[in-house]
Formats: sequence, C-alpha cells, structure tokens
Amino acid sequence: MGVKISNFYQGESISLLTKHHKEKVIGPLFSKTLKADLITIDSYDTDQLGTFTREISRQGSQLDAARRKAEIGMEIGRTKYGIGSEGSFVQDPYAGLIPINYEIIIFIDSLRSIEVVGQARGSSINHHASVKNWQELAKFARLNKFPKHQLVIRPDHQDHPAFEKDINNLEQLKKAFNKALKISEKKKVFVEHDLRAFANPTRMKNIKEATKDLLLKLRSVCSKCQTPGFSISRHEPGLPCALCEMPSNQTKAKIYTCLKCDYERKEYVKSNKADPGKCNFCNP
Ligand SMILES: [Zn+2]
Ligand SMILES: [Zn+2]
Repeated sequence: MGVKISNFYQGESISLLTKHHKEKVIGPLFSKTLKADLITIDSYDTDQLGTFTREISRQGSQLDAARRKAEIGMEIGRTKYGIGSEGSFVQDPYAGLIPINYEIIIFIDSLRSIEVVGQARGSSINHHASVKNWQELAKFARLNKFPKHQLVIRPDHQDHPAFEKDINNLEQLKKAFNKALKISEKKKVFVEHDLRAFANPTRMKNIKEATKDLLLKLRSVCSKCQTPGFSISRHEPGLPCALCEMPSNQTKAKIYTCLKCDYERKEYVKSNKADPGKCNFCNP
C-alpha cells in the first residue's frame, strides 16, 4: 500500500506573493491539482527582500525569504494559506562551470500550523561578461539566448548602481549599451542575465518543477493523524552489494515522516541489490 492521497484544499483561497509573474506556472498547477483558488498578490515589492542585481541583499536563508513572502501574502490577502518562492544560483559542485539554479517553494497552512516545502534544481542560464564594444555585446547576446532570457547592462563593473533592466530586444540593448559606455570610467560595460523569474525561462521551468514537488507532498497525508505534507525526510543506506552482500551506502529505504505526529513509514527501494562498482568492501 502506498502513501495515502487526499486533498484538503479544494476551493480554498491561497495567497501567492509575487511581483515577477510566478503565478503563470504556479497558478495552473494549483488549480488543476488541488482545485484551489490562487490569489496573486503583486502589490508588495518583493525586491525589498533581496535582488539578484545585488543592490539589496537577502536577509537570512533562502527558505527564510520564501517564508517571509508567504507570510506577507497571507497578511495582505487575509488568507489562511500562503505560498512563497525563492531561487538561488550556485556553481555546480562537480562540473564547476555550469551554474545550477535551486528553487524552493513553501506552502504555509496556518490552520494546521504546518509548512510544506517543494524544491527543484536544474541547470540555468546565468552568465556575465565585460565588453568593450557593441560587436562583443551582440555576440554575447546571440550566444546566450537573448531576448528570451533578458539582460542587465551597467557601466564598468558588476556593482555599478546605474543599471538598466527589462531589456528584451536588440534596440533596447544597444541603447542601454551606449548609455552605459558613455558614463563608464574604464570604457567597459558589464552585461549579465536578468535572473528575475519572468525574464529567465529556465528559472521558470525550475519553479514549475518545485511546484510539482510541493503539490505531491501536499496531497500526501499521514494515515495516522491526516496531516498533509507526509513526505520523505531521510534515506536509509545499507542496500546489500550484489556481489559480496555487505551493506553499501546506497539507499535501502526511504523514510516518510509526519509533520505533526510521530508516525513514520518506511518504503523499501525496488532494487534489492546495490551496484558492486560503488561497494566499499569488494570494490574500495
Ligand atoms: Zn501524523
Ligand atoms: Zn561488495
């Protein structure tokens, strides 16, 4: 028997605080999966909580920022439920060169006093360069999925305060470039991708994946106390090696944990033997 599936949110009003049109991907998934009523709140300037263009740095963790957005949305929308989403970018720890986008989306249920978090990670379009002339910039734009992925332009260096965003066509790009070059001290222009959700389709795709993850968790309920958000909290290693049968580091079981009570559920993985190539005993 699998995890119990239920929907407690049909017809309920849920606030979503976003200034960058995240409702375009989150909204349809919520109404289709939960038949809930998503209220988009765009009257609050979420840039006050931190920007990718570095003029305002984020306070606290990525999760703190997402939670703050959900709380503000619930306050403005006067709802019992709220959603907040926050993204971050890191260099791929293995390949090193590919920027990885990590998206989290939080759902707060104030009625049950629970928080459920969906997450996704994926490759992203997040590049920057320093250019000296229009040809260099035009080449950067061509190679980096402009105008679908928008660009930010500023004089000299990445922290210059006089930047231009909302650039989504060549004419605007050229205008912004000329303006930046004119006030630049070193006759250089700094260009980078706009990482706001609506300006960055690969980010939007990752937000969609995080939303799917969240919805899966919201529909999974604890079979003991009926609290939604019943999901995998940890993996138990120890899958026996196919060759020497010693316990390996590979996952043997996934542990589902309730957000409210102490109920746990262990689900064993389908394969019952670990890859000997990764065994610490017979293939150290
Ligand atoms: Zn429970
Ligand atoms: Zn082995």
